[in-house]
Amino acid sequence: MIPYGHQSIDDSDINEVIKVLKSNWLTQGPKVLEFEKALAKYCGVKYAIAVSNGTAALHLAYLTAGLKKGDEVMVTPNTFASVVNMLLVVGVKPVFCDIRLDTYNIDESKIEKLITKKTKAIIPLHFAGHSCEMDAIREIAKKNNLIVIEDACHGLGGRYKDKKIGSLANMSILSFHPVKPITTGEGGAILTNNQKYYKKLISLRSHGIYKDKKGKNVMTELGFNYRLTDFQAALGLSQLKKLNKFIQKRRQIAKWYQKELKNIKEIILPVELPDSYAGWHIYVIRTKDSRSRDNLMEYLKKNRVGANFHYPAVYSHPYYQKHGFKNFKFKNEDIYQKSCLTLPCYTQLVRADICYIGKLIKNYFNK
Ligand SMILES: *Cc1c(COP(=O)(O)O)cnc(C)c1O
Repeated sequence: MIPYGHQSIDDSDINEVIKVLKSNWLTQGPKVLEFEKALAKYCGVKYAIAVSNGTAALHLAYLTAGLKKGDEVMVTPNTFASVVNMLLVVGVKPVFCDIRLDTYNIDESKIEKLITKKTKAIIPLHFAGHSCEMDAIREIAKKNNLIVIEDACHGLGGRYKDKKIGSLANMSILSFHPVKPITTGEGGAILTNNQKYYKKLISLRSHGIYKDKKGKNVMTELGFNYRLTDFQAALGLSQLKKLNKFIQKRRQIAKWYQKELKNIKEIILPVELPDSYAGWHIYVIRTKDSRSRDNLMEYLKKNRVGANFHYPAVYSHPYYQKHGFKNFKFKNEDIYQKSCLTLPCYTQLVRADICYIGKLIKNYFNK
């Protein structure tokens, strides 16, 4: 089976992890600090706070932004459920905004109409590694006094104009799950230039406890244990060194797909807009006839290609349906839902894999 995504781990990664495992320090320690510094430097921000996973990063960012019961936050329905789950956990009402049909990102032209007195933040996701229109989004945020929390889980390694994804908002969220641009097994981070946010995030990550002047542990906030281990950070550091190479390979794969698939008139290929240098976290095509999507997916799976679906609209999940998130109608999201299909994209794929997948899709439509 060719999965839709896969980590890329080599001996240099493994050796770095072993070194830490043989040391005296396994939990958060010097390697986490080193990893944070390297991440911040890579993205061009002041602070990075490593945490146990991307969902923990979202949770802490929401609390740090002061989001609470009664607030509204603008989100894209085309995202991973945990982005919205954590909003519900802190009591916030998610307000879904339609997507664009070229990048499948939040449609910035539809945000302002949805803003109310209760709106506190916008969470743009750079879907599949293609940057959102951040100038427009930040302009709207400034005008309406909103915080921007950038979901950069797909986007690490990519750029918007001349700026790195991860540096485009008040806070940016990363995940290091194995299918993401780099991995630490489980893992995540928050990036920010704001020192106040940084201090709050550090505290919340570790029980809200700090050492006072006398060296006594004092708890001043209701915090969590969302720490990353030092051996995971060693893996992250080693992976980060290879990130630019990983992205180059992913961009190569996208080019191969473009070549193999461009003459198949039954499908729509993803596009990279001029302001975006995309990391191609996933490669999403759409079928022009929505009736063929499910069958094409089945056909690919039968032939050992792990085609996938990113994402079922967050509000379509049974939990959301049960909790009143019903009867949404979005022009573009509804079209997207019925037609999208994710093809495999990860660094170990070779030209022959892409040719094979291309042939399968051609065969499917020529049957
Ligand atoms: C992976 C992902 C997350 C959550 O990250 P975890 O590390 O799996 O908790 C959040 N948002 C998006 C868009 C993701 O892809």
